[in-house]
Amino acid sequence: MKVNFYTSKREYDEKKEEFNKAIISVVEKGISTLGPEVVKLEDEIKEFTGAKYAIGVASGTDALVLASDILGFNEGTEVITSPFTFFASASCIARTGAKPVFVDIDEETFNIDVNKIEENITDKTKGILPVHLFLQMADMDKIMDIAKSHNLRVLEDAAEAFGMRWRGNSDEYRHAGTIGDFGIFSFFPTKTLGGYGDGGMIVTNDEKLYEMAKIYRVHGASKKYHHEYIGYNSRLDSIQAAVLSVKMKYINDSIEKREEIGSWYIDGLKDIKEVRIPKILGNQKHVFYVFNILAEKRDELAEYLKEKEIGFSIYYPKPLHLQECFKYLGHKEGDFPVAEKISKEILALPMYPELTREEVEYVCNVIKEFYAK
Ligand SMILES: *Cc1c(COP(=O)(O)O)cnc(C)c1O
Repeated sequence: MKVNFYTSKREYDEKKEEFNKAIISVVEKGISTLGPEVVKLEDEIKEFTGAKYAIGVASGTDALVLASDILGFNEGTEVITSPFTFFASASCIARTGAKPVFVDIDEETFNIDVNKIEENITDKTKGILPVHLFLQMADMDKIMDIAKSHNLRVLEDAAEAFGMRWRGNSDEYRHAGTIGDFGIFSFFPTKTLGGYGDGGMIVTNDEKLYEMAKIYRVHGASKKYHHEYIGYNSRLDSIQAAVLSVKMKYINDSIEKREEIGSWYIDGLKDIKEVRIPKILGNQKHVFYVFNILAEKRDELAEYLKEKEIGFSIYYPKPLHLQECFKYLGHKEGDFPVAEKISKEILALPMYPELTREEVEYVCNVIKEFYAK
């Protein structure tokens, strides 16, 4: 049996008429950039996340770059983030001229080790960029405490964290991205809320930051052709917004479906001693954006899955401090041992709402078979 790591086709086939109608109606009305579809999606995201303001942009990466620029992550400043994340979480810091300062991850959650942040703060530190990775949020209580006591800005990379909510020691759940100064989401197709191409969104509760982000996405001009800032051209596309609004109607169901699939995996893998399954820590609501395992003989298992036509992905095979482009930071192997170790053991299995129980059981059985050889 062939099992795709991801496919958009099943969801499309299920809701074909709705998607077609949404897309065609944008074109039939006549295209307008940042049109009513974008405003509608921004309103839906505000409603769902509880953020006061939402600004649709061209990608999650752009959202990070615009937010970094606005928060002053520039020349002569340092910003603390994780070395174990998608490239864009650190490239945005370097892109606007600041220095990414990596802090190793927690072995259990793969998120930034909040106990190691303070020892990396210098008089140049401007901000913290926590990433809510795979299925759970970083410890936002600790991060906000540290930020407050050192007067730092916080940019939450919630690209993978749509639907995740943090409670911590407070009495209410707050959606990922709405706790720091800025938060960002990615609508890359595989993400929990994914479009049919690129898209992203910035959220904030701060009116001033909102006004800046709105201006920065249209070349730094609050009035057309009058530029207060050197901004960007980064708009969420109206057709993508229309597609995403269809998906927003079903977002709670698709998050629940991910949860159910996660429980099938946990059940199917629990007796394999060579495989460790994820732990969720902290008072929060997780979402299975990705279902990872830590596997002995990971690379051989990957080969075996390939032979059996089971899709998988390795997030992330090379931590950021070892990337060629960050050589100038002067890191070497061994600097962030937890990130390096996890990058050699981790493997992501198929996870999307349309997966069937039969497929998940097949994947688990093939893994069992591999270790029994
Ligand atoms: C996907 C992702 C991004 C970038 O989003 P794009 O929309 O692909 O530009 C940034 N950070 C993390 C952690 C991601 O997973």
